[in-house]
Amino acid sequence: MKRALMRMAVLFGLAGGSAILLPAQQAATSQTVKGPDERFKTDILVVVAHPDDEGGVTPYLARAIFDEHKRVAVVFATRGGSGGNDYSREHGPALAIIREQEARTACAKLGITNVWFLDGKDTASQNVLNSLSNWGHGANLEALVRIVRATRPEVMITWLPGVFIGENHGDHQAAGVLATEAFDMANDPTAFPAQVTGATKRLELYLENLTPWQPKKLYYFSDADDQKQFDGTGPAYSIKEVSPSQKKSYVRLALEAATPHLTQFPQAQELQKMTEEQFKKFLDDPNNLFWPEPMTLILGKSWVNGKAMGDVFEGIVPKATWNHNLQCPDQFIEHRDPPLQAAVEVGGSWGFYKAFRLKHCTPTPEAKMPEIAVKAGSNLQIPLIVRHDYGETLDLQINVDAPADWRIQQGAGRLALPKEGGTDLIVEILTPQLSKEQMAKSAAQTIIVRASAGGRSAGEVRLKVQLKASALAQ
Ligand SMILES: [Zn+2]
Repeated sequence: MKRALMRMAVLFGLAGGSAILLPAQQAATSQTVKGPDERFKTDILVVVAHPDDEGGVTPYLARAIFDEHKRVAVVFATRGGSGGNDYSREHGPALAIIREQEARTACAKLGITNVWFLDGKDTASQNVLNSLSNWGHGANLEALVRIVRATRPEVMITWLPGVFIGENHGDHQAAGVLATEAFDMANDPTAFPAQVTGATKRLELYLENLTPWQPKKLYYFSDADDQKQFDGTGPAYSIKEVSPSQKKSYVRLALEAATPHLTQFPQAQELQKMTEEQFKKFLDDPNNLFWPEPMTLILGKSWVNGKAMGDVFEGIVPKATWNHNLQCPDQFIEHRDPPLQAAVEVGGSWGFYKAFRLKHCTPTPEAKMPEIAVKAGSNLQIPLIVRHDYGETLDLQINVDAPADWRIQQGAGRLALPKEGGTDLIVEILTPQLSKEQMAKSAAQTIIVRASAGGRSAGEVRLKVQLKASALAQ
């Protein structure tokens, strides 16, 4: 069948580029060179971790799609096969195939049909590095850069990479890390170069013929408990405002778009049945708002000029002058110089983010002091990195200030560090079990880790810790 069609195409001169032109025709006609597939050109590319995460920005997406006629595509990093099933009996890989379809149907409710899934595996912890490891950081980044080059977004929206008291899901953070990296790499012809190399033959197998692409703006949203801390970091949009075209509030459109997520959000069906009057009453209870009003999109970086609080598409115009202030000096290299004397810093994902912000020049909001929430009665880990002279061993003393009923398990006392520029250490503390009454009154505690070497202070690390009835493993 295919061969017969090919023969017909050759007969009628339809096979792309293979028609033989006579010299006289060559002068008169030009051959059309195929462009990129315009069906996939997008205004906004949303990059999230799990099916239902898109719900973090659907009130804004409803506005952008229905009333500003923007094209939106969504990338999910995992298929969401872990966690409980609140609707039917399937679990694990079976739940993953269900959640993939729930996510596609949810996106379709907003008219989003360009939806992709990476190969990340659900990783239930607060540590972004666990997620990056379990996902296969490199292969998934390569896949995401390909999607950015194929969809050519003006704007990318993703989870905020950072550690905060809240759900603080490592997978959410990892989606934000990959999206930030892809934002910075997609326009670099040396990043995954086979993707941006032209095909050399008709039946090309390896060279992808995409082109480098620079998305103009990067925005974040966060799963932190305290959303107020992000006020003023980017444009704020009312979720209760009524869509002129849909005659419904954006929050209602967002909740309607969440109804296919039955395995995670079965109550969405009930919400959908409410009359406009009942729904208004429901929203009057602040506990029923899944989003802050207004919701802020945190500006990560922008290649076009405009105000941080300006609209998402402000400055994104043809022939916009680019904001070259983004080409920040590589402070990361400087940071790696051997220190004059031993110094302790917070390590783990906090240490990673310090380097990440410098590397990607994203002045993204971070907690004033490193912070985290852990389940009361679980072990708290404080990762440390001690920078010292790589030519000598180091005799280090670690002391920990913590409330009396917090039991230090390991990491305090005298330590002999090997000859190296930086040594990773960990302090582990068993947190107390709390009754319901104690939990209600429990305020965040500040734990202080002090380091000294040769009788001199080597600095200290402070960590604000909130105990909760439940939290993801650290
Ligand atoms: Zn999630």
